Formats: sequence, structure tokens, C-alpha cells
Amino acid sequence: MTMIVRKNEKLRGVYVVEFDDGLIRLATRNMSPGFRVYGEELVQHEGLELRIWDAYRSKLAAAFIKGLEFSPLKEGAKVLYLGAASGTTCSHVSDLVEERGRVYGVEFSARVMREFLERVVKHRKNVIPILADARFPAGYAYMVEEVEVIYQDVAQPYQSKILIDNAEFYLKDGGWALLAIKARSIDVTKEPSEVYKREVETLKRGGFDIVQVVHLEPYDVDHAMILARKV
Ligand code: SAM
Repeated sequence: MTMIVRKNEKLRGVYVVEFDDGLIRLATRNMSPGFRVYGEELVQHEGLELRIWDAYRSKLAAAFIKGLEFSPLKEGAKVLYLGAASGTTCSHVSDLVEERGRVYGVEFSARVMREFLERVVKHRKNVIPILADARFPAGYAYMVEEVEVIYQDVAQPYQSKILIDNAEFYLKDGGWALLAIKARSIDVTKEPSEVYKREVETLKRGGFDIVQVVHLEPYDVDHAMILARKV
């Protein structure tokens, strides 16, 4: 199969792969060549192995495709990742920050953490697993340093409060937050757009500037990604 591969000009470390059937997908350079995390396709390009990034499985890929204009996930960045699950998106974040970067992956389900260890942590030196509840950030202070980015996807009520509390502990001034909001986890009775507005207001009161809000349909219904910066 022939394909065209180029780097996305705005989003550091993100590749765009155009297959000959017209399909366009995002990809990242595989930090652990030969290993797949969630059955994703691997493609070879100029001596690099790229992992195709499924926007139906990862809200971050969906946000990029839906027009998120800036990525703070640069090479060498330290990232606190809340809600690591079995590591689908976390593994692409690990690819983006590369060998010099670090990803602290917090997950509170022991069963899911076992999958995360097996699929991701075992094969990647830049990922540090933390079995803990993100609602209580003091609980992992002994493991986490100051970070440049917090990525959060916990599908819980009080999502903004969890982010603000973690930012107080770990996010440096001027640092970035990427918050995946699941409207129905916050309030099933309210329209998603009302929920997003309320979360945005909470983040502003909690010391963040809102840079962009991207709706993730059709990849994730009733979800949005908020890009914010700590002031
Ligand atoms: N970010 C993941 C990805 O894209 O691959 C998917 C995350 S999934 C929607 C939400 C995860 O957050 C679940 O694995 C859940 O166990 C975890 N979670 C929910 N509340 C949490 C909390 N308070 N502390 C830590 N993990 C939490």
C-alpha cells in the first residue's frame, strides 16, 4: 500500500498519514518499536516506525482532528496524566514527549492498572505508573515532580475541581492543561454546552486562562476538550 506521510505543522510530534484509499489518519513515532498498545496499525516511514492514532479510541486524537490549534506535549515535557486507564492515549503522549520527557500516569482502578502496566509501562521508560485517586493529589506527592502539562480524562463529576487541585500541587506557572470533559458525567439533566460553560467558569475562577474549547463529535458524543493555561 502506498501512503504519504508528513509532519503536522502546528502540532509537534504529530504525523499525518494519507493512505492511497484517501483515508487520512494521525500517527506518532513509536517509542517502543514492534509493540502495539491497543491493536493499532504500525507503519514504517524513513527509518521510523509510526503508530496510527485512532480518534475513535483517543479523545486527544479527536481533539487534534477537530481543530485543537496548539499542543503543549512537546519533546522533553513532563506530564501528569490523570485517568490513564489501560494507556491508549497515554502511550501516544509518551511517544510525543519522547525519551527525555516523562509521563506520570495516575489510575485508581487496580484491575485497569494491571493492563496499563502490561501494555504500556513495561515497554516504555518514560511512563511512571501511579495507583491513586486523582481527587487526592497529596497522595502522590512523593512520586511526582513539577510538570509542564496536566492531561485529565477521568469521566467523573467535579472534573474541573480535580484539575484545579492537581494544578495547585504540580503544575508550574504558565503550564498547560488539557481537560477532556464528559458532559453526562457531570450533569445528565443539562445540555452539554451548558455543562462546558460551567466548567470553563470554574477553571477561570481556579486560576486558568481558557485558550480553546473543542467539541469532539462525532468521535465522542457529548465530550469536549478544553485547552487552558495556568496564570
Ligand atoms: N484517558 C484514557 C485514554 O484515552 O486512553 C481513558 C480514560 S477513561 C475515560 C477514565 C479513567 O479514569 C478510568 O480508567 C477510570 O478508572 C479512571 N478514573 C476515574 N476517576 C478516577 C480518579 N478519581 N482517580 C484516578 N483515576 C480515575
